[in-house]
Amino acid sequence: MQELPAPNCGQCGLRLEDVGGERILATAAGLWVRPTRDSEGYLRWFCQKCSGVVCHACGSIRIPLGSDILHDDGTISHAALLPIGNYCSNPACANAPRPS
Ligand SMILES: [Zn+2]
Ligand SMILES: [Zn+2]
Repeated sequence: MQELPAPNCGQCGLRLEDVGGERILATAAGLWVRPTRDSEGYLRWFCQKCSGVVCHACGSIRIPLGSDILHDDGTISHAALLPIGNYCSNPACANAPRPS
């Protein structure tokens, strides 16, 4: 049985390489994608932009805190919801990790 992620986001159709970040199945805000297989047997997922897992300040891809993530090999893991402020992937953003 095929258990690999679909090549594209189930909503916008972009590939993960084009969007960045992780494949999202569920978010801390309550979005939940049923991990069904598409017509070719691949698992469906949403990109971080379609699932709203982006920085609230600049809209860039962020660390998917509290989200369920689908990995390349079809396994699913849950990112802990941690009270950290530095989660943005945009180095110019106020929420990006600061070099110490
Ligand atoms: Zn998408
Ligand atoms: Zn940001």
